[in-house]
Formats: sequence, structure tokens, C-alpha cells
Amino acid sequence: MGKIHLMDEPLSNKIAAGEVVERPTSVVKELVENAVDAGSTMVEVLLKEAGLTTIQVVDNGNGMDADDALLSFSRHATSKIANEHDLFRIRTLGFRGEALASIASVSKVTLQTSDGETGTFVQMEGGRLVEHRAGSLRKGTDITIDQLFFNTPARLKYMKTLQTELGHSIDLMNRFALSYPQISFKLSHEGKTILHTSGSGEIQRVLADIYGVSIAKKMVPFDGQSHDYRVTGFASLPEITRANKNYISLFVNGRWVKHYAIANTVHKAYHTFLPLERQPIVVLNIEGDPYLTDVNVHPAKQQIRLSKEKELMELIHDTIRRAIRSAVRAPVIEKPK
Ligand code: ADP
Ligand code: MG
Repeated sequence: MGKIHLMDEPLSNKIAAGEVVERPTSVVKELVENAVDAGSTMVEVLLKEAGLTTIQVVDNGNGMDADDALLSFSRHATSKIANEHDLFRIRTLGFRGEALASIASVSKVTLQTSDGETGTFVQMEGGRLVEHRAGSLRKGTDITIDQLFFNTPARLKYMKTLQTELGHSIDLMNRFALSYPQISFKLSHEGKTILHTSGSGEIQRVLADIYGVSIAKKMVPFDGQSHDYRVTGFASLPEITRANKNYISLFVNGRWVKHYAIANTVHKAYHTFLPLERQPIVVLNIEGDPYLTDVNVHPAKQQIRLSKEKELMELIHDTIRRAIRSAVRAPVIEKPK
């Protein structure tokens, strides 16, 4: 007889979790993405010990029925894509169907969800079902992750200070708030509110919530369109500068992404306006046919590959530069192309 056998699900999920669940912030990210995908207008995140003890995410989205509530913890279980065609036209933040399975395999999860017709309560521990029964009928989902990494002590050991871990989650929630100004986000830690946005839909109000009113007043809107892409957002006046690129928030079809070349292009748009070593504050929303974007690069879904990159870079550069130039009304000599 051969020596190979298929791993059981909790074990394979635990391995997958190594990539998806790096730290408490990864859990916050996956849970809030699910809340956004569920059409929520209100998402509340409550943390204890920077998320290491407890991460609770409450939303008022579509919720799940009793069967889905259980199935959601199976690996490769998703309501978001159905076939290969969909994979190339992703319009949701999630699509891999593995976040809940991975998270559940390295923590204790309590899920309360309702689609308005049925209410369901599910409890999991280390990827194994503990309880599944009828629950409250409040529409939406309330999910709590306790004792993250309780069964992966090596991972737990590598957590940085609580302040550092909390900092990552604050940063993340700021980006969600900027990307979805129409959703009210609340983040609290040990009962203390850290961020609370109104959900009014105005990015400038969110900018004020995060960076303060005086900065928000010094941000100018921009809007540009090319054949394949549209870019919109806000860019700081040259009098506002920062030491690093952390204040350049890039979103592609609503997803916060990290993209070195785009951040560089944003910086270049400020050429002669800013000292070379200083960086602006920018919120850049890029919209284009999902077919042009590939987020299936890494399980954390923060890297992205883009088609027609040259067209996009020119659009970003020219749109932001034009907005800054007209705001400061300074004649600038352009390099001939
Ligand atoms: P994915 O988001 O990639 O589909 P997840 O493991 O994150 O995979 O979630 C599995 C499924 O569970 C989702 O496709 C969705 O149908 C359901 N789900 C998870 N969280 C929520 C939520 N907050 N509200 C409604 N449905 C949810
Ligand atoms: Mg998801």
C-alpha cells in the first residue's frame, strides 16, 4: 500500500491559514471584506488586546441562511464566483472561499447570522464544529474570533507588541473607510472608539475623520478618464507633505492594493511641487473593467496585476498633476513628451 493519504480538512485549512492569517489584522481584513460584500451599510469592529484575544465584526448586511452559515466554514465554499469566467470578472472583495475556513482552523469562532427569515448560531473550535442551532433574527452577521492562534503557538510567538498589531488594524480600517465612504465604519479597542465614520458618502468627511479637518480642507478633488480606466479621488496641496508613501491610498475597484509603480507615479505627478524626498496624501480610486485586473496573485489579495498599465499610469499622472496645478495656479514648464 502507498504512503500517501489526503489530509483531513482541519489540517489542510491550518496550512492554508499560514498564508491568509498572518496576524490579527488579516482576520479583521477578511471579516470586514465579507461584511462589505454582504451589502452592509454599517460595519463595527471591536478588538480586545489588539485582536489577539477577541475580534468581533458586526454588520447589517444580507446575512446567511442556516445551511450557508455552516458551509461558509468549508474550504473553497463561496457565494461569489461560480465558474472560471467569473474568476476573470471579480466584482467582490472575496472570491477564494477560504478565509473563514482558515480563520476557524486557528481560533475559536462564534457566528450569529440572519438573512431576515432564519437566524443561525454556529460555534467552531480549531476548525471543528462545536454547535449549530437556531439563533437571533436580527438581520446581518455578528462574528467573533476568540484566542487567535491558540493552537499555533509558534505563530503567536511572532506577534509584535499590541501597539504595533493595533496600528495595523487602525491603518486597515482607515483604508476601508476611505474606499467606502457610503458605509459607516466603527473601530473600537477595549471599549474605546478609535474611528467612527458617518457613512455619508463624502470622502472629504472621512479624510477629516482620519487626518483632521485642516488637512481635509487642503485636499483637492480630481477626476480623469481614459479609454479603459477612470481615476477619481483627492490629492493634498503641496504645502502638506509626509515622510513616506503610507499616506498614498490606492484602491482598484474598491479594493485597497499595494502597488509600487502606481504610488511612484502619484509621487511623480508632484514633481517640482514637492521636495523629492517628501510624499503627498492621496486617495486614488481606480475603476476599470475587472477583466483588466488580476487579484489572484496572493491569498491576501493585496497585490494586483493590471493590463494597459502604461495607459493607466499616464492617466493617473496627468489627472493628479492637472488638479494640483490648477489648485496652486502656478505655471509649470512641462517636459516635452
Ligand atoms: P469568500 O469571501 O472568498 O467567498 P469566505 O471564507 O470569506 O470566502 O466566506 C465564505 C462565504 O460565507 C462567502 O462567500 C459568503 O457567502 C458567506 N459570508 C461570510 N461572511 C459573511 C457576512 N458577513 N455576511 C454574509 N455572508 C457572509
Ligand atoms: Mg471573504
